[in-house]
Amino acid sequence: MKGVTILGATGSIGINTLDVMSRYPDRYRVVALTANSEVERLYRQCQTFRPRYAVMGNELAAEQLAARLRKELPGTEVLSGVSGLERVAALEEVDIVMAAIVGAAGLLPALAAARGGKRILLANKEALVVAGAIFMDEVRRNGAQLLPIDSEHNAIFQCMPDGFERGLAQSGVRRIMLTSSGGPFLHLPAAEFASITPDQACAHPNWTMGRKISVDSATMMNKGLEVIEACLLFNTTPGDVQVVIHPQSVIHSMVEYLDGSVLAQLGTPDMRIPIAHALAWPERIESGAGRLDLFEVARLDFEAPDLERFPCLAYAYEAASRNDTSAVIMNAANEEAVAAFLDNGILFPDIPRVIRGTLDELSPRRVTTIEEVLVEDRRARAAANGIIKEMKSDYCQ
Ligand code: NAD
Ligand code: MG
Repeated sequence: MKGVTILGATGSIGINTLDVMSRYPDRYRVVALTANSEVERLYRQCQTFRPRYAVMGNELAAEQLAARLRKELPGTEVLSGVSGLERVAALEEVDIVMAAIVGAAGLLPALAAARGGKRILLANKEALVVAGAIFMDEVRRNGAQLLPIDSEHNAIFQCMPDGFERGLAQSGVRRIMLTSSGGPFLHLPAAEFASITPDQACAHPNWTMGRKISVDSATMMNKGLEVIEACLLFNTTPGDVQVVIHPQSVIHSMVEYLDGSVLAQLGTPDMRIPIAHALAWPERIESGAGRLDLFEVARLDFEAPDLERFPCLAYAYEAASRNDTSAVIMNAANEEAVAAFLDNGILFPDIPRVIRGTLDELSPRRVTTIEEVLVEDRRARAAANGIIKEMKSDYCQ
């Protein structure tokens, strides 16, 4: 019986994780569920899964949840804040931590899981992008296991040979081919980007996901974050990670070997597949996902990404090639810009402008500690919000 903590249980990945786990009640036990402020949803999840701990990032929400659970589920202890999230990520009775908080907010809890030597199922790519080598060092030092949930990285992991941690060339691998659906605006002319609404940006053609990652998919910043994620997970450089647009999202990514062999992982676009893979690895369990019907798919298309219309991908390639806080600054600016766009404060094409402006305004640094990373993250958010404020006041005139 494996004890599991789900960080971000009320989100798209969290809900899919509970769906897979509930198929194997003799194999997995929910120890802790966490959310930021969705009291009602976490309350209902607690009723169903009866965890030992429930954590709300938001203090007020934690009080509300505790008031509702006190009588009904006295066995569930309610904790709050980052310290509560860190605590349930590192509990003795927990074997597996699903890191599915969105954004850099998930960094400290994911790091606590690494320091606790857990099997980390990593959906929260921003945590890895921001902490970079520091995160990977903590994983290695504490004997933690990092299994990717991002469908592309999970696919690459499945296609990689044993011992890939040594680096691609040492493992007979030439490069990684990272597939991308291209998002909802793959062929929309740039002139029409300014009229894109938040709801249009969140309507992804193949995947149902949280709103932040949906906007990232639409700007292709998601693929950019994934290039950086791939470099860290597979110990390689951005020059060996090729982005391939593949609108059907059937091939989840590929690995090209020195002999010319290309291995791919295919499946329906259903996150329960990588979740089930990483939960049970190296065994296999049923995920509940539909089976792939190649006759229905009928064809697979591929094209090169357009970095002019989707500059976020270019910014990420640039950040990936630098051994400084460029990725921290880029990620923080992106998070603030996406939040402002979702709030109808700025336009869709303003998102890359905020990121570019923030990167130009701040000089990246070399950092070696998480504390320094957090300082840089805050500095970048302040700069990005300054740019957003100016844009908003321009729109008001
Ligand atoms: P979501 O918005 O649906 O859920 C986010 C979860 O994080 C919620 O439970 C929310 O309560 C929690 N959360 C948000 N802010 C928090 C904070 N400050 N403190 C504590 N908890 C907080 O997001 P999602 O789509 O499930 O994505 C989660 C992560 O997984 C993201 O990093 C995303 O990039 C990654 N991912 C998602 C998918 C997908 O299909 N949804 C695929 C690949 C990777
Ligand atoms: Mg992905």
